[in-house]
Amino acid sequence: MKQEPTARCPLCDAPSQTRALKGREYLMKCTRCGIVFNTLHHPLAYNDRYFIEDYRAQYGKTYEEDFDTIYRMSLLRLDTINSVLKHTSAAHSPSLLDIGCALGFFMKAASERGFGVRGVEISPYGARYCREKFSMEVFQGAFDDFSTGNTFDVITAWYFLEHCTDPLRVVERISGMLNAGGIFAFSAPSVFGPQFLFHRGEWADTHPVDHRIDLSPRSVRAFLKRHGFSRVSVRPGGIHPERVMAKESFLYPAFSRLYNGISGLISFSDTMEVYAVK
Ligand SMILES: [Zn+2]
Repeated sequence: MKQEPTARCPLCDAPSQTRALKGREYLMKCTRCGIVFNTLHHPLAYNDRYFIEDYRAQYGKTYEEDFDTIYRMSLLRLDTINSVLKHTSAAHSPSLLDIGCALGFFMKAASERGFGVRGVEISPYGARYCREKFSMEVFQGAFDDFSTGNTFDVITAWYFLEHCTDPLRVVERISGMLNAGGIFAFSAPSVFGPQFLFHRGEWADTHPVDHRIDLSPRSVRAFLKRHGFSRVSVRPGGIHPERVMAKESFLYPAFSRLYNGISGLISFSDTMEVYAVK
Protein backbone atom coordinates (compact mmCIF):
# COMPACT_ATOMS: atom_id res chain seq x y z
CA MET A 1 0.00 0.00 0.00
CA LYS A 2 1.31 3.41 -0.91
CA GLN A 3 1.16 6.56 1.13
CA GLU A 4 -1.04 9.27 -0.34
CA PRO A 5 1.34 11.74 -2.06
CA THR A 6 -0.38 14.79 -0.56
CA ALA A 7 -0.53 13.57 3.06
CA ARG A 8 -0.09 16.35 5.58
CA CYS A 9 -0.27 16.05 9.36
CA PRO A 10 -3.94 16.42 10.34
CA LEU A 11 -2.94 18.18 13.55
CA CYS A 12 -0.15 20.61 12.65
CA ASP A 13 -0.34 20.54 8.82
CA ALA A 14 3.38 19.75 8.44
CA PRO A 15 4.12 18.14 5.05
CA SER A 16 6.93 15.84 6.20
CA GLN A 17 6.57 12.51 7.93
CA THR A 18 8.31 9.17 8.37
CA ARG A 19 6.89 5.65 8.37
CA ALA A 20 5.78 4.51 11.81
CA LEU A 21 6.64 0.95 10.76
CA LYS A 22 8.33 -0.51 7.68
CA GLY A 23 5.77 -2.02 5.34
CA ARG A 24 2.89 0.02 6.79
CA GLU A 25 3.15 3.12 4.62
CA TYR A 26 -0.31 4.27 5.69
CA LEU A 27 0.77 4.76 9.34
CA MET A 28 2.89 7.91 9.27
CA LYS A 29 4.67 9.79 12.06
CA CYS A 30 4.72 13.58 11.74
CA THR A 31 8.31 14.83 11.99
CA ARG A 32 7.15 18.16 13.44
CA CYS A 33 4.62 17.33 16.19
CA GLY A 34 5.23 13.59 16.63
CA ILE A 35 1.70 12.25 16.24
CA VAL A 36 0.98 9.18 14.12
CA PHE A 37 -1.75 9.35 11.52
CA ASN A 38 -3.47 6.82 9.31
CA THR A 39 -3.74 7.88 5.67
CA LEU A 40 -6.14 4.98 4.92
CA HIS A 41 -8.51 5.88 7.75
CA HIS A 42 -12.20 5.34 7.04
CA PRO A 43 -15.22 5.45 9.32
CA LEU A 44 -17.18 2.32 10.25
CA ALA A 45 -20.93 1.93 10.44
CA TYR A 46 -21.58 2.75 14.09
CA ASN A 47 -24.71 0.61 14.34
CA ASP A 48 -26.06 -1.83 16.96
CA ARG A 49 -23.35 -4.32 16.02
CA TYR A 50 -20.61 -1.87 17.05
CA PHE A 51 -21.95 -1.78 20.62
CA ILE A 52 -23.07 -5.42 20.82
CA GLU A 53 -21.21 -8.06 18.73
CA ASP A 54 -18.03 -6.04 18.01
CA TYR A 55 -17.76 -4.80 21.60
CA ARG A 56 -18.31 -8.32 22.95
CA ALA A 57 -15.60 -9.68 20.64
CA GLN A 58 -13.13 -7.18 22.12
CA TYR A 59 -14.16 -6.99 25.79
CA GLY A 60 -16.12 -10.23 26.42
CA LYS A 61 -19.40 -8.43 27.06
CA THR A 62 -21.67 -5.93 25.33
CA TYR A 63 -21.32 -2.19 25.91
CA GLU A 64 -24.59 -2.25 27.86
CA GLU A 65 -23.31 -5.08 30.08
CA ASP A 66 -20.17 -3.03 30.76
CA PHE A 67 -22.20 -0.35 32.57
CA ASP A 68 -20.58 -0.79 36.02
CA THR A 69 -17.02 -0.33 34.74
CA ILE A 70 -17.87 2.63 32.50
CA TYR A 71 -19.97 4.31 35.21
CA ARG A 72 -17.17 3.93 37.81
CA MET A 73 -14.65 5.40 35.37
CA SER A 74 -17.07 8.24 34.61
CA LEU A 75 -17.22 9.19 38.31
CA LEU A 76 -13.41 9.36 38.47
CA ARG A 77 -13.34 11.57 35.39
CA LEU A 78 -16.02 13.83 36.90
CA ASP A 79 -13.94 14.13 40.09
CA THR A 80 -11.07 15.44 37.96
CA ILE A 81 -13.36 17.82 36.04
CA ASN A 82 -14.83 19.14 39.29
CA SER A 83 -11.39 19.70 40.80
CA VAL A 84 -10.43 21.79 37.76
CA LEU A 85 -13.80 23.62 37.68
CA LYS A 86 -13.33 24.74 41.30
CA HIS A 87 -10.65 27.10 40.04
CA THR A 88 -12.79 28.58 37.27
CA SER A 89 -15.86 30.77 37.37
CA ALA A 90 -18.32 28.04 36.28
CA ALA A 91 -21.97 28.22 37.23
CA HIS A 92 -23.55 26.26 40.09
CA SER A 93 -25.04 23.67 37.74
CA PRO A 94 -22.43 23.65 34.98
CA SER A 95 -23.54 22.76 31.46
CA LEU A 96 -21.88 19.78 29.84
CA LEU A 97 -21.88 18.48 26.27
CA ASP A 98 -20.72 14.89 25.76
CA ILE A 99 -19.64 14.22 22.15
CA GLY A 100 -19.82 10.56 21.15
CA CYS A 101 -21.94 9.83 24.22
CA ALA A 102 -22.64 6.19 23.20
CA LEU A 103 -25.29 4.74 25.54
CA GLY A 104 -25.17 7.74 27.88
CA PHE A 105 -23.45 6.20 30.91
CA PHE A 106 -21.11 9.17 31.38
CA MET A 107 -24.03 11.61 30.95
CA LYS A 108 -26.02 9.71 33.57
CA ALA A 109 -23.13 10.03 36.05
CA ALA A 110 -22.66 13.74 35.18
CA SER A 111 -26.35 14.46 35.57
CA GLU A 112 -26.34 12.78 39.01
CA ARG A 113 -23.39 15.02 39.94
CA GLY A 114 -25.45 18.13 39.12
CA PHE A 115 -24.35 18.91 35.56
CA GLY A 116 -26.91 20.01 32.97
CA VAL A 117 -26.10 17.50 30.22
CA ARG A 118 -26.61 17.14 26.47
CA GLY A 119 -25.14 14.58 24.11
CA VAL A 120 -24.16 14.00 20.50
CA GLU A 121 -24.18 10.43 19.23
CA ILE A 122 -23.81 9.18 15.67
CA SER A 123 -25.37 5.76 16.22
CA PRO A 124 -29.18 5.64 16.22
CA TYR A 125 -29.01 2.74 18.70
CA GLY A 126 -26.94 4.77 21.20
CA ALA A 127 -29.01 7.94 20.85
CA ARG A 128 -32.27 6.02 21.26
CA TYR A 129 -30.91 4.22 24.33
CA CYS A 130 -29.94 7.56 25.99
CA ARG A 131 -33.38 9.01 25.37
CA GLU A 132 -35.44 5.98 26.37
CA LYS A 133 -33.41 4.72 29.34
CA PHE A 134 -32.19 8.01 30.83
CA SER A 135 -34.46 10.67 29.24
CA MET A 136 -31.34 12.48 27.96
CA GLU A 137 -31.33 15.20 25.32
CA VAL A 138 -29.23 13.80 22.49
CA PHE A 139 -28.53 14.98 18.96
CA GLN A 140 -28.37 11.89 16.73
CA GLY A 141 -25.86 12.49 13.96
CA ALA A 142 -22.23 13.39 13.28
CA PHE A 143 -20.65 16.16 15.35
CA ASP A 144 -19.96 17.96 12.03
CA ASP A 145 -23.73 18.30 11.58
CA PHE A 146 -24.40 19.42 15.17
CA SER A 147 -24.95 23.11 15.69
CA THR A 148 -26.12 25.00 18.72
CA GLY A 149 -26.65 28.57 19.84
CA ASN A 150 -25.46 27.58 23.33
CA THR A 151 -22.02 27.48 24.85
CA PHE A 152 -20.94 25.03 27.54
CA ASP A 153 -18.87 24.98 30.73
CA VAL A 154 -17.57 21.49 29.96
CA ILE A 155 -17.25 19.53 26.72
CA THR A 156 -16.22 15.90 26.96
CA ALA A 157 -15.28 13.46 24.20
CA TRP A 158 -14.14 10.03 25.40
CA TYR A 159 -12.32 8.17 22.61
CA PHE A 160 -13.86 10.36 19.92
CA LEU A 161 -11.13 12.62 18.49
CA GLU A 162 -9.08 9.74 17.04
CA HIS A 163 -12.04 8.89 14.78
CA CYS A 164 -12.25 12.36 13.21
CA THR A 165 -10.96 12.89 9.66
CA ASP A 166 -10.13 16.52 10.49
CA PRO A 167 -9.34 16.68 14.24
CA LEU A 168 -8.00 20.23 13.94
CA ARG A 169 -11.35 21.57 12.72
CA VAL A 170 -13.19 19.56 15.39
CA VAL A 171 -11.07 21.02 18.21
CA GLU A 172 -11.55 24.54 16.82
CA ARG A 173 -15.34 23.99 16.86
CA ILE A 174 -15.19 22.60 20.41
CA SER A 175 -13.16 25.60 21.56
CA GLY A 176 -15.77 27.90 19.97
CA MET A 177 -18.56 26.16 21.93
CA LEU A 178 -16.79 26.50 25.31
CA ASN A 179 -17.27 29.34 27.75
CA ALA A 180 -14.14 31.20 28.87
CA GLY A 181 -12.63 29.12 31.68
CA GLY A 182 -14.48 26.06 30.36
CA ILE A 183 -12.96 22.60 30.19
CA PHE A 184 -12.40 20.30 27.25
CA ALA A 185 -11.86 16.79 28.67
CA PHE A 186 -11.13 13.84 26.42
CA SER A 187 -9.32 10.56 26.06
CA ALA A 188 -7.38 9.24 23.08
CA PRO A 189 -4.82 6.62 22.08
CA SER A 190 -1.19 7.62 22.67
CA VAL A 191 2.03 6.60 20.95
CA PHE A 192 3.96 7.45 24.14
CA GLY A 193 3.25 4.05 25.65
CA PRO A 194 4.51 0.46 25.75
CA GLN A 195 2.42 -0.80 22.84
CA PHE A 196 3.87 1.64 20.27
CA LEU A 197 7.39 1.73 21.69
CA PHE A 198 7.94 -1.97 22.52
CA HIS A 199 5.36 -3.96 20.50
CA ARG A 200 5.03 -1.93 17.32
CA GLY A 201 4.13 -4.86 15.05
CA GLU A 202 1.23 -5.82 17.30
CA TRP A 203 0.25 -2.14 17.62
CA ALA A 204 0.06 -1.88 13.81
CA ASP A 205 -1.72 -5.24 13.41
CA THR A 206 -4.48 -4.18 15.79
CA HIS A 207 -4.64 -0.54 14.69
CA PRO A 208 -8.35 0.20 14.09
CA VAL A 209 -9.14 1.21 10.50
CA ASP A 210 -11.44 3.96 11.78
CA HIS A 211 -8.68 5.64 13.84
CA ARG A 212 -7.20 8.68 12.08
CA ILE A 213 -4.67 9.80 14.74
CA ASP A 214 -2.63 8.59 17.70
CA LEU A 215 -1.52 11.47 19.91
CA SER A 216 1.20 11.89 22.53
CA PRO A 217 1.23 14.00 25.71
CA ARG A 218 3.76 16.39 24.18
CA SER A 219 1.88 16.83 20.88
CA VAL A 220 -1.46 17.35 22.58
CA ARG A 221 -0.11 19.99 24.97
CA ALA A 222 1.48 21.98 22.16
CA PHE A 223 -1.56 21.59 19.91
CA LEU A 224 -4.12 22.71 22.49
CA LYS A 225 -2.00 25.66 23.58
CA ARG A 226 -1.81 26.78 19.96
CA HIS A 227 -5.60 26.60 19.75
CA GLY A 228 -6.82 28.72 22.62
CA PHE A 229 -6.34 26.55 25.73
CA SER A 230 -4.34 28.05 28.58
CA ARG A 231 -3.80 25.05 30.87
CA VAL A 232 -3.47 21.43 29.73
CA SER A 233 -3.20 18.50 32.11
CA VAL A 234 -2.48 15.00 30.77
CA ARG A 235 -2.92 11.73 32.71
CA PRO A 236 -2.34 8.11 31.76
CA GLY A 237 -5.55 6.44 30.57
CA GLY A 238 -4.46 3.12 32.07
CA ILE A 239 -1.32 1.77 33.70
CA HIS A 240 -0.09 -1.58 32.39
CA PRO A 241 3.37 -2.66 33.58
CA GLU A 242 2.58 -6.18 32.30
CA ARG A 243 2.92 -4.81 28.76
CA VAL A 244 6.60 -4.24 29.48
CA MET A 245 7.55 -7.11 31.86
CA ALA A 246 5.94 -10.55 32.24
CA LYS A 247 3.96 -10.87 35.49
CA GLU A 248 5.72 -14.20 36.16
CA SER A 249 9.11 -12.49 36.53
CA PHE A 250 10.41 -12.34 40.11
CA LEU A 251 11.29 -8.70 39.44
CA TYR A 252 7.70 -7.84 38.52
CA PRO A 253 6.42 -6.61 41.94
CA ALA A 254 9.27 -4.10 42.30
CA PHE A 255 9.14 -3.16 38.63
CA SER A 256 5.37 -2.57 38.62
CA ARG A 257 5.60 -0.19 41.62
CA LEU A 258 8.30 1.82 39.91
CA TYR A 259 6.43 1.72 36.59
CA ASN A 260 3.16 2.93 38.19
CA GLY A 261 4.95 5.92 39.70
CA ILE A 262 6.75 6.88 36.50
CA SER A 263 3.70 6.31 34.29
CA GLY A 264 1.63 8.62 36.49
CA LEU A 265 4.32 11.32 36.38
CA ILE A 266 5.01 11.38 32.65
CA SER A 267 1.74 9.88 31.30
CA PHE A 268 3.52 6.90 29.80
CA SER A 269 0.53 4.85 28.65
CA ASP A 270 -1.14 3.51 25.51
CA THR A 271 -4.08 5.83 26.17
CA MET A 272 -4.34 9.20 27.84
CA GLU A 273 -6.86 11.54 29.40
CA VAL A 274 -6.58 15.26 28.76
CA TYR A 275 -8.15 18.09 30.76
CA ALA A 276 -7.71 21.46 29.04
CA VAL A 277 -8.93 24.84 30.30
CA LYS A 278 -9.93 27.48 27.76
ZN1 LIG B 1 2.13 17.21 13.06
